[in-house]
Amino acid sequence: MTETKHYDVAIIGAGPAGLAAADDVKRAGKSVVVIEKYLWGGTCPNYGCDPKKILLAGIEAKESFDFLAGDGLLGDVKIEWPALMARKTHFTESIPERTQSQLESVGITTLYGPAHFINKDTVVVHGVAGDLEVQATDWVVSVGQRPATLDIPGAELSIDSEAFLSLPEMPQHVTIVGGGYIAIEFAGIAAGAGAEVTLIIRDSELLKDFDSQYVDILTKELEKRGIKFYYNTEVTAITENADKSLTLDLSFGQPLTTDLVVLAIGRVGNSDTLALENAGVETDRRGINVDNFLRTDNPHIYAAGDVANTPVPRITTAGYFEARYAVSVILGQTDQPIRYPAIPVVVYATPKLATVGVPTEIAANYGYTVTELDMTSWFSYYRTGEPVARTKVVLDAQKHLVGATVLGSHADELINYFTEAINNGDGYQEIRDRLYAYPTIASDLEYFF
Ligand SMILES: Cc1cc2nc3c(=O)[nH]c(=O)nc-3n(C[C@H](O)[C@H](O)[C@H](O)COP(=O)(O)OP(=O)(O)OC[C@H]3O[C@@H](n4cnc5c(N)ncnc54)[C@H](O)[C@@H]3O)c2cc1C
Repeated sequence: MTETKHYDVAIIGAGPAGLAAADDVKRAGKSVVVIEKYLWGGTCPNYGCDPKKILLAGIEAKESFDFLAGDGLLGDVKIEWPALMARKTHFTESIPERTQSQLESVGITTLYGPAHFINKDTVVVHGVAGDLEVQATDWVVSVGQRPATLDIPGAELSIDSEAFLSLPEMPQHVTIVGGGYIAIEFAGIAAGAGAEVTLIIRDSELLKDFDSQYVDILTKELEKRGIKFYYNTEVTAITENADKSLTLDLSFGQPLTTDLVVLAIGRVGNSDTLALENAGVETDRRGINVDNFLRTDNPHIYAAGDVANTPVPRITTAGYFEARYAVSVILGQTDQPIRYPAIPVVVYATPKLATVGVPTEIAANYGYTVTELDMTSWFSYYRTGEPVARTKVVLDAQKHLVGATVLGSHADELINYFTEAINNGDGYQEIRDRLYAYPTIASDLEYFF
């Protein structure tokens, strides 16, 4: 007979969302189990944000050198990809075991194996030692997403984002299929590491949720780094040649020969692995449907993070926030619907593009004003020699900050200060009264109002 265990809260998926939920449940003194079928820690630290940013660190260091080349720096810096990759692997390889033992050390039960519902409050986990049934009073489902695949002949010759982040050698020519942030970031990394890169984009534009003028400037910067863009083009077949190179048939133009094809065409929810219909939970194309309390159609099952059908970007911070909120509802700590703070989103390209709050392109609809500042001659950017450093701020009628978009090497840091200002409702006076260390990116803040 299959053993059944009962917990106050059971969490499926040990990514950023699931781990944040587990921590809060445990702190409240409740019994909690986390079920994971692959790598403890989930996408972000194992095959997402963190490994990507480690690889990018090498590319950025080379760029920083190049910006000052001839202005006091001599020589030619080169990326040694296998060594950079080894540095990444040194970080990622310990994540799963470390994450699981941290959970166990604070009394959170961990179960390894794929889980699926067999009724409204029971899940079966297919563990290595056999099946186990888990019952819980409440559930948090945080199973994330996986890379979308292409249904074309030869699709198996391509690799996905996880494989790109473990690539042992950087080939001479890399083709990346996709026009979202992962495609752009990988293009920057591959080009920075010395590959010739072609991006194949199904639509007529990239990064649709960002300021289009800044996307154009970013595109030009990427072109300067040798990246080629094919718009309105689909890959219809991939074939392998005798010399192991690959030929891509395209919906438009001549076939393209390349050494590596990376698919970055979006992500699909893992909700289809859970037999959620057995628990009375509805899903759709955008993930698991939830109400404003992150509750599914089953009042004891909540969804959070990438797999939840919520109106926020699918990024780590949104996942933490949703998971902690769901737990606060379960624990009876709130009876208010979820209210998201301003959530900054960054494209870690070269240069970086970051945005938060009201998008520049709809600001006028609300009577807000958009001010643009080219910061390249400012001290902070003169110092580093960056060729592109620009910001658009969106101000309301009282000149309080409600949105910002930044393009430049420091966009990921500057956007955090803007986020804080938006969440605090800050204007010129509040910013001026804060004394940031000078001269830094933060001490520039008052110039934006
Ligand atoms: C290449 C890449 C780069 C990214 N870069 C950034 C970035 O720079 N910044 C940022 O904020 N976000 C970034 N993201 C997004 C970020 O990784 C995700 O938003 C975040 O990991 C979502 O957390 P989550 O807990 O919802 O899901 P995940 O981290 O995906 O975790 C879900 C877990 O559930 C497990 N699971 C799935 N099905 C089952 C099942 N049936 N039974 C048991 N376990 C199951 C999975 O194995 C996985 O470990 C990136 C993503 C990718 C792919």
